[in-house]
Amino acid sequence: MKPAPFSYERPRDLNSALSMLAASNGSAKIIAGGQSLGPMLNLRLVQPELIVDISGLAELKQAGLSGGELVLGALVTHADIEDGRTADVTRGAMRGVAANIAYRAVRNRGTIGGSLSHADPAADWVSALAALGARVTLRSLAGARSMAIEAFVVGALESALQTGEIVEAIHVPARAVSAHWGYAKSCRKTGEFAHAIGAILVDPAAASARVVIGAIDTAPIVVTDAAELFGGRIAADYKQRFDIRVADTLLMKAGIDDVAQRHIHVSVLKRAVLEAAA
Ligand SMILES: Cc1cc2nc3c(=O)[nH]c(=O)nc-3n(C[C@H](O)[C@H](O)[C@H](O)COP(=O)(O)OP(=O)(O)OC[C@H]3O[C@@H](n4cnc5c(N)ncnc54)[C@H](O)[C@@H]3O)c2cc1C
Repeated sequence: MKPAPFSYERPRDLNSALSMLAASNGSAKIIAGGQSLGPMLNLRLVQPELIVDISGLAELKQAGLSGGELVLGALVTHADIEDGRTADVTRGAMRGVAANIAYRAVRNRGTIGGSLSHADPAADWVSALAALGARVTLRSLAGARSMAIEAFVVGALESALQTGEIVEAIHVPARAVSAHWGYAKSCRKTGEFAHAIGAILVDPAAASARVVIGAIDTAPIVVTDAAELFGGRIAADYKQRFDIRVADTLLMKAGIDDVAQRHIHVSVLKRAVLEAAA
């Protein structure tokens, strides 16, 4: 299949892009790396009147530290992170996630902002950044607003983006020295989207943990106060205290009725817990 006809604009700066999006009144689509939008256009799952190509916007390619957190422009690619061209406040956690997204060709073009905006429940950044406690900044002609990743991804292929808004930047807090990180996923083949993701940022010294069960049919399950998954208390022995029954209940509550599916998700989350504790 080939896309339905569309007009194409490649704005020179962010304000021009925002003006084009505002003027289109919802009939335009942004293209960044094109790794998801390309196939969707070809399959005619989306038929925008206008494509606004933001891939030339220098403002969205910036990456740097600000007040102890990492601020990544939306156009930072997975390969930029994998190759260490951006600073790392997560002590290797993001680099490891980036290196295992799809194939190198996809990572060269696919962007962190595009991945979040597409809001595929199986996308790695959706789960990993939620576990890391990241926030996203959205910009429109009216100004900017910021929200946690778990508030931004509201369902399968559904985000909080409103007409005229663009993902401008992702803010990643520094990982505490005492915080452990675990990330596991199950894919049928290397390079394919995951059908289960488990991510955990646990800080026994601070008695806190963020746990994410991703690649379910809707937005990931994000547990920001995860003590109940560890017998009511997060401490150095969290690996032994991890309670698979609580994880199973969370999945049941999320509407996953199939026992085998729940078993896969719980096992993958357990792998993430073991990785964190290793
Ligand atoms: C073969 C293949 C395998 C893949 N496997 C994986 C995988 O294992 N894990 C994984 O996480 N991902 C995977 N991906 C997805 C890939 O990683 C890209 O991140 C993803 O396609 C989106 O990034 P993009 O920059 O290409 O966005 P695009 O395709 O350009 O855009 C995607 C969507 O986001 C919107 N958009 C883009 N940028 C912005 C912005 N700044 N603000 C607002 N809206 C925006 C677009 O309008 C569109 O709706 C795979 C892709 C392919 C083709």
